[in-house]
Amino acid sequence: MASADLVILGGGSGGYACALRASELGMSVILIDKDKLGGTCLHRGCIPTKALLHAAEVADSARESDAFGVRATFEGIDMPKVNEYRDGVVGRLYKGLQGLVKSRNVTFIEGTGRLVAPNTVEVNGERHTGTTVVLATGSYSRSLPGLEISGRIMTSDQALNLDYVPKSVIVLGGGVIGVEFASVWKSFGADVTIVEALPHLVPNEDEACSKALERAFRKRKIDFSLGVRFASATQDDHGVHVTLEDGRQLDAELLLVAVGRGPNTAGMGFEEQGIAMERGWVLVDERLRTNVPGVFAVGDITPGLQLAHRGFQQGIFVAEELGGRNPAVIADVNIPRVTYCEPEVASVGLTEAQAREQHGNNVAVYEYNLGGNGKSQILGTAGFIKLVQVTDGPVIGIHMVGSRIGEQVGEAQLIVNWEATPDDVATLIHAHPTQNEAMGEAHLALAGKPLHAHA
Ligand SMILES: Cc1cc2nc3c(=O)[nH]c(=O)nc-3n(C[C@H](O)[C@H](O)[C@H](O)COP(=O)(O)OP(=O)(O)OC[C@H]3O[C@@H](n4cnc5c(N)ncnc54)[C@H](O)[C@@H]3O)c2cc1C
Repeated sequence: MASADLVILGGGSGGYACALRASELGMSVILIDKDKLGGTCLHRGCIPTKALLHAAEVADSARESDAFGVRATFEGIDMPKVNEYRDGVVGRLYKGLQGLVKSRNVTFIEGTGRLVAPNTVEVNGERHTGTTVVLATGSYSRSLPGLEISGRIMTSDQALNLDYVPKSVIVLGGGVIGVEFASVWKSFGADVTIVEALPHLVPNEDEACSKALERAFRKRKIDFSLGVRFASATQDDHGVHVTLEDGRQLDAELLLVAVGRGPNTAGMGFEEQGIAMERGWVLVDERLRTNVPGVFAVGDITPGLQLAHRGFQQGIFVAEELGGRNPAVIADVNIPRVTYCEPEVASVGLTEAQAREQHGNNVAVYEYNLGGNGKSQILGTAGFIKLVQVTDGPVIGIHMVGSRIGEQVGEAQLIVNWEATPDDVATLIHAHPTQNEAMGEAHLALAGKPLHAHA
């Protein structure tokens, strides 16, 4: 039996961030993972998918080089080579993370853990007791009833490991993961059709962003059916055959099931130890405490946004709470969100519809078109930065579409979380010519002093 100030079950974004910060604050930490340190984000999520998206951007650049006066030809995708590049990126980060955890004296234990008492995790037949236990076991790709993941029907886990580019794909689900894979495969040369049950792609975003993405995808010849539900799917040697509830049939080489991720909590002893749960999610209060004293939970197993940086923030939060630092609570709505397809969608804060629900007519909105932004013109991208403001008050939502626009979400989250007014931002200087300038221009316009925009 070993003991420590902190025992953390799950070494993904939430768990390892908690471990690193806790050890910085002088706590002894045992970190347990049944798989590789780094979790979904590093090995099966954020990093490998963004490497594929970068390869996709390179492919598009080669294809479109003529428009920039550059003579190049696009000859195709060497998927094993793309995977080698991706694995190189993941491998270097993995090595760095392992070194970091070691250098902070965190004890890493590989094995499947189970909560056998509120303060004790059993792994490899040994018990590890903590003054505090943090649950951080993450999430898994969901499917739909009757839709078995096998062969040509896959989730992002299998899709990431393909060593060829499929000729055609049906993507079930037009949320973040679905549109990112759709974007990659289209750039790699596949025919792609997205099926989304809700009325829009990226349905959690401001409707203006969804519509702009739909326009861009139409232009890229990515097909999509909105507001229609999946009924059934079969597969044979020739491909997958999907039937929709409106009777239509779609055929393709592969079907990607991207209908969301569920909490990875089954069979880990949480219920037996009296931890309050709802449909598999671990319930926590705003300070990330479960109902059982001394047990916290962070990351994807708690209801809310499933994002790596939310996991990092929650892990750090718990460590600082235990270290008596009284960290500030950040509401989910004020966590930045980026969808990394081409074009990118990025946002923070309330959508226009949510703002109107909360503030009625006391809402001002301004949309700065990237048509007026020099760098966006150089890149050849369309899009906008949309601001949502409480009239004569702070900016409470920023919503953006455009190539590479995700890089602007840093300033956007600063503006929203510091409750800046358009005047506050309008006095600051944004470098020319950058896409960041569009952020300044949008705030200048909303402050009543537009520069490269009509009043
Ligand atoms: C395809 C894809 C793309 C994504 N892209 C992005 C992105 O671009 N940006 C972003 O912010 N987010 C992205 N995400 C989401 C992000 O990966 C997750 O939000 C993040 O990994 C959650 O961190 P976590 O620590 O809660 O869980 P995880 O990272 O899932 O880690 C949980 C860990 O717990 C371990 N574990 C589980 N059960 C046990 C057990 N019983 N015993 C021991 N260990 C256990 C697992 O092995 C795992 O390592 C993406 C996800 C996917 C699937």
